[in-house]
Amino acid sequence: MTAKLDANFDVVIIGTGPGGEGAAMHLAKNRKQVAIVERFRQIGGGCTHWGTIPSKSLRHAIFQIAEANKNPMLRLAGISLALPFAQMRKAANSVVDRQVEMRHTYYERNGVTVVSGHARFLDPFTVEAEEGNGARHRLRAKAFVIATGARPYRPPEIDFNHPRVFDSDKILSLAETPQSITVYGAGGAGCEYAWMFRNLNVKVKLINTRSKLLEFLDDEIIDALSYHMRDQGMLLRHNEEYESVKPADDGVVLALKSGKQIKTDILLWANGRTGNTDNLGLEQIGLTPDSRGQLKVNENLQTTAAHIYAVGDVIGYPSLASAAYVQGRYAAAHILGHAEPAMIRNIPTGIYTSPEISSVGRTERQLTEAKIPYEIGHAAFKNLAREQITGQTVGMLKILFHRQTLEVLGVHCFGANASEIIHIGQAILAQTGPANTLLYFINTTFNYPTMAEAYRVAALNGYNRVC
Ligand SMILES: Cc1cc2nc3c(=O)[nH]c(=O)nc-3n(C[C@H](O)[C@H](O)[C@H](O)COP(=O)(O)OP(=O)(O)OC[C@H]3O[C@@H](n4cnc5c(N)ncnc54)[C@H](O)[C@@H]3O)c2cc1C
Repeated sequence: MTAKLDANFDVVIIGTGPGGEGAAMHLAKNRKQVAIVERFRQIGGGCTHWGTIPSKSLRHAIFQIAEANKNPMLRLAGISLALPFAQMRKAANSVVDRQVEMRHTYYERNGVTVVSGHARFLDPFTVEAEEGNGARHRLRAKAFVIATGARPYRPPEIDFNHPRVFDSDKILSLAETPQSITVYGAGGAGCEYAWMFRNLNVKVKLINTRSKLLEFLDDEIIDALSYHMRDQGMLLRHNEEYESVKPADDGVVLALKSGKQIKTDILLWANGRTGNTDNLGLEQIGLTPDSRGQLKVNENLQTTAAHIYAVGDVIGYPSLASAAYVQGRYAAAHILGHAEPAMIRNIPTGIYTSPEISSVGRTERQLTEAKIPYEIGHAAFKNLAREQITGQTVGMLKILFHRQTLEVLGVHCFGANASEIIHIGQAILAQTGPANTLLYFINTTFNYPTMAEAYRVAALNGYNRVC
């Protein structure tokens, strides 16, 4: 707990997730007096405690077990692994602790004042932070960054206290691995959890409210994802809308407006998120969130009050930790007067299904709509030596480039380590002028055998079509 404060700062930030941290670090490094307010008992945000870190640590634990069980040598030795869900979740806790510890040192080393409590605006230049014990801190500043994140949307008619009904926060406290699960909502978190449970041999029914999975991705990647989900035994239903959720002692029934009734051991509700803007005193500063609790910002991440910025999940799409962090840094840079718009352009997407999906730049759909003449270069992972050695042969890398200038316009990857290797494409795509060229991948020597080599294969494949 901090001592009671009544102080002036250059900037006050609300929320210690990646958005708040990115802003705080950039401002502190530029010698600004910064305070950051957090209402949870630990710093790190939803990213560290409910979202990215626990879900990716859990995924890793599950993946290791699934890989071990698939390993022919271990099978031959009669070894098969199984751990209760709670045990695998425990593996994630140590990562969370390490993350919290590390982030504390960042704030300490950079002289950022961390204030405990729920923050709310009293007027456009004052925030009050109220601790659980009623202690109140008053913080005045010339500028503010709202980085309060979002939480799972919970329709009021669904009983989330029932032991068979979960959202993406509550699923982390699941004790036993169920035999079957319905995942309602096929966004990033829904698809990732669906795949995690499938890797545990759980029967998975994924109910999508839209016509395709993850509509913001390139269509070919979406098709590949859907194909592999079905191939792995998941049931997918598109264009569905729920009517009711009826939990009982022996399972939970999801009734859909189409008349279908889906019964499984548990239900994971992964449909929609609400921005954390309630009780933030927004009425004191003339801001009104939209129906999803999100704040509108301009291209510089300023709200309608120019000295109050909003970043991360509280402003909605893309709702990624990576994006939140860079938006925080951008808002800080704008406050300091040296913002560089390129910082928040070409933010990549990483979806940690099995295998992963990652993409940067434009999709075929977007290029077609914009009437840009493009060509495609493909590399199928099954044809790469590294993938054949590791047995991770599912996937592809796809490069979209301009037919005449060879400018790289988009890179899309589905396969093992997609979220890592996408950054090679991003580095070229982010270049301006002739430095952004497909020829880079053709004229560069890649280690062999690597997954990165897919760039050379895909580039040659595409280049051969235009030359
Ligand atoms: C299951 C799941 C998996 C995910 N996986 C990934 C992934 O693999 N990669 C990725 O990039 N992203 C992932 N995300 C998204 C990522 O977690 C979020 O985009 C990121 O956490 C957003 O950061 P933020 O700083 O905006 O908010 P948050 O990280 O949510 O932090 C907001 C903080 O503000 C605090 N706060 C809120 N209101 C107040 C208030 N009034 N006063 C004081 N403090 C307040 C909260 O307590 C919280 O600590 C995942 C999300 C989920 C749910």
